[in-house]
Amino acid sequence: MSRSTTLFEQARAVIPGGVNSPVRAFKAVGGTPPFIARARDHRIVDVDGRVFVDLVSSWGAVIAGHAHPAIVRAAQDAAVKGSSFGAPTEAEVRLAEEIVARVPAVDKVRVCNSGTEATMHALRVARGATGRDLVIKFDGNYHGAHDSLLVGAGSGLATLAIPGSPGVPEATAALTRVVPYNDLEAVEAVLKAEGQDVAAIILEPVAGNMGCVPPAPGFLEGLRSLCDDHGVVLIFDEVMTGFRLARGGAQERFGVTPDLTCMGKVVGGGFPMAAFGGRADLMDQVAPVGSVYQAGTLSGNPVAVAAGHAALQLLDEVAYARLEAIGERIEDGLVDAVRYHGCSFSRVGSMFTVFFRDTPPTNFEEAKQCDLEAFKRFFHAALAAGIYLPCSQFEACFFAYTLDEGDDLARVVDGLEQALVAAAG
Ligand SMILES: *Cc1c(COP(=O)(O)O)cnc(C)c1O
Repeated sequence: MSRSTTLFEQARAVIPGGVNSPVRAFKAVGGTPPFIARARDHRIVDVDGRVFVDLVSSWGAVIAGHAHPAIVRAAQDAAVKGSSFGAPTEAEVRLAEEIVARVPAVDKVRVCNSGTEATMHALRVARGATGRDLVIKFDGNYHGAHDSLLVGAGSGLATLAIPGSPGVPEATAALTRVVPYNDLEAVEAVLKAEGQDVAAIILEPVAGNMGCVPPAPGFLEGLRSLCDDHGVVLIFDEVMTGFRLARGGAQERFGVTPDLTCMGKVVGGGFPMAAFGGRADLMDQVAPVGSVYQAGTLSGNPVAVAAGHAALQLLDEVAYARLEAIGERIEDGLVDAVRYHGCSFSRVGSMFTVFFRDTPPTNFEEAKQCDLEAFKRFFHAALAAGIYLPCSQFEACFFAYTLDEGDDLARVVDGLEQALVAAAG
């Protein structure tokens, strides 16, 4: 029996499902998840000594490669000076300045500990600022595991087939309107009927939690103008796309500026840190300047702040050009095989998905039409070939910019091509 199998059994005795976040459990694809022992650059090693090229990258958080020396050094240097004070530090100021300089929509920013917290608090700011309660979200977009937004929430829920979630009060869910992604008319209809009660529209500007689904041309611009017409706060949830798709995230890449922005994953450099920010007048609603309450004992944790700041320093134009070039090579290398096997391919920068469906989905209804049995075969064939993919059709692949070193990129293209053959079964 493999060490991972033993650990998984032990884990299930004391941790629900053996995991601290549900998607990791391999429920959608079956089998035992490899327990990870260590990682370096874009390679991870499990407790049985198997080496994989990592296309999960901690669900997008790791972009400069695992255990990047500059990030490790920054975290170590911070830790020896004390890992938590619950008091302001200079490093927080430098991090906030860096975020403000990069992200077009952010004048002021506050850091917190997870993407879930970031969207929860951004939503509270929007509700506090507008005095309205309703929120519009998109089917298949995921914004974390809190009550208001755990409705029609894509990947984890789709993977496990939980319809919404027990424990979310109906009264809370009733304040959320769920409309199809890329469907401006559906948004317009909701705003026509009850626009005066809508505080915010929140979305993934490129969806990653139903597989990689880009915004249709004009979709983001259309939302921007609808929000302006109806006095609604536009929130881009860039927890996945922020600092990954460009220096300033999807809003820079697509040239549409939201009112509030949620960040996470990459911004923490692999540590638990996230952030929300936006226009100064909105962010000044937050206590202690305004009366919208938001707080966190470990918010601005010195180790996480140091790691995040170090990660952002690595993300210059050269890094983004590398990420783009790697993405292009994967896409060019796979496009024929994907088409031959009746699949489709979506990519924006360094996030992509092979869909087991003949055209790339534009919304969650279409994504759900994928052949999930074929995906399972694809997943396990890739794993056997040493490629660690997200264990669900409804998750995007992410890579670090180190993937162009050596011959690993060629191995990824070959391995995925073989996995497509295996999936066709
Ligand atoms: C991962 C993710 C979240 C949640 O972040 P956590 O740190 O897991 O709480 C929110 N929104 C999007 C778009 C995400 O991808």
